[in-house]
Amino acid sequence: MNTNSSNIMALAPNTSNKRETVCIFGTGDFGRALGHKMIQSGYPVVYGSRSTQISNLIPKDAEVLSHAEAAQKAAIIIIAIQRQHYNFLTPLAEILRGKVVVDISNNLKLNQYPESNAEYLAQLLPGAKVVKAFNTVSAWALQSGALDASRQVFVCGDDVEAKQMVMNIVRALGLTPLDQGSLLAAQGIENYPLQLFPMWKFPMFLSLGLTAFFFFYCLALDVIYTYVYEKNNFSFFIAITIPNRICPVMALILLALVYLPGVLAAIIQLYRGTKYRRFPDWLDKWMLCRKQLGLIALAFASLHAVFTLVSPMRSFVRWRTSKGIISQALNNKTEPLDTTNAWLSDSYLALGILGFFFFVLVGITSLPSVSNSVNWREFRFVQSKLGYLTLILCTAHTLVYGGKWFLSPSAYRWYLPNIYMLSLVVPCIVLVVKFVLVFPCIDKPLTQIRQGWERNPKYSE
Ligand code: NAP
Repeated sequence: MNTNSSNIMALAPNTSNKRETVCIFGTGDFGRALGHKMIQSGYPVVYGSRSTQISNLIPKDAEVLSHAEAAQKAAIIIIAIQRQHYNFLTPLAEILRGKVVVDISNNLKLNQYPESNAEYLAQLLPGAKVVKAFNTVSAWALQSGALDASRQVFVCGDDVEAKQMVMNIVRALGLTPLDQGSLLAAQGIENYPLQLFPMWKFPMFLSLGLTAFFFFYCLALDVIYTYVYEKNNFSFFIAITIPNRICPVMALILLALVYLPGVLAAIIQLYRGTKYRRFPDWLDKWMLCRKQLGLIALAFASLHAVFTLVSPMRSFVRWRTSKGIISQALNNKTEPLDTTNAWLSDSYLALGILGFFFFVLVGITSLPSVSNSVNWREFRFVQSKLGYLTLILCTAHTLVYGGKWFLSPSAYRWYLPNIYMLSLVVPCIVLVVKFVLVFPCIDKPLTQIRQGWERNPKYSE
């Protein structure tokens, strides 16, 4: 009787400014932090606890009662208790019938249980309207009101009205509710806080692997080779010269790897004559982490810019410059200005500056705060057209830098090409294939396929 009247009270539209009482089961870290925040936002809070003794950790103004008594005082009950203790709720099933029961729990491992904690709670309390929420915010962020923590609260549940009530509370606490649909989404929401940069794993491992490979490659050719054959100790190259070789190479290769899956997808679609067949898993995964690959590439390009700017300060560079001047003075012979070289060096720098500018522009547009403010066409224009322009400029920058040495035998120490030559392989393949794909005789069928046309339709009309 008591239970029903409190439900009707809570579900009725709130005509006054007074907020409805919220019950929190559990006076642990999260229960206390949430209760504190709710009281600050004007919600009367009643705790359901195994011990009704008020400790000074419990927010002042909150009541602490037994679970059964507390549940009867509110229409919304938040379960701030670990899943393994949920059994204690079974005897309370009748009292919780018709109430909105909010599951906020997390697990220690991904997919730890066959069903989500929220679905398990719904099985234990068949009459309750179970909603999943709050598990992605931490007790610390709630208590300290940290601006640097995520304010997004994923909410899901089968009862639309119950979900709405929980989303209203989320909003009142100054957080942002994100409706994720039915309770089936709970497993994904529970796995979310356990993930550690899932989209960054492949790009990070790839970057680390390639960086290590290029580091040892440069160490062998620039330090060990010169020591063995020229008796020069260039070990200090490890500090700036080698990183400044690896960074542009990594930036260019990773940028090309952002665009390679799109080119491969186009070839697969052309070959199959349909877009209605799934790409291989590896290609799907690769496409999903293109943004991360691009951002890592941008980080390498930025490092390259900084390393290049400090070049004139380096003692090796100053020594080499003064050595050149002194040798001209000793020989009493001034080297004439080589305009071809001047052209090459200025073009190389200009292409690098322009490439870096567009690189930054494309990188900034991939940030959610910026991409949210442009429409789909604008986003595609920047990511695709300006992205390819960046790839062209950066490839040209590398070609102008090293083009003249391609045929010079001195560029091949131990018969191995320099790393800037290696860095050109993937970008050149991507650009050549992309160039072929934009030919009208290929672009037209590809566009048709992407609009739904099939060469051999499975279901004919
Ligand atoms: P906690 O500090 O260990 O508190 C859990 C509370 O559960 C205890 O204070 C106790 O409250 C109650 N409890 C313990 N054993 C019980 C039992 N056998 N039967 C009934 N009640 C029992 O845990 P917490 O950090 O607050 O986390 C609570 C829930 O919030 C967990 O499911 C967690 O995954 C979730 N969560 C926590 C955070 C966080 O930052 N801490 C963030 C998101 C989600 P009483 O003594 O009052 O009965």
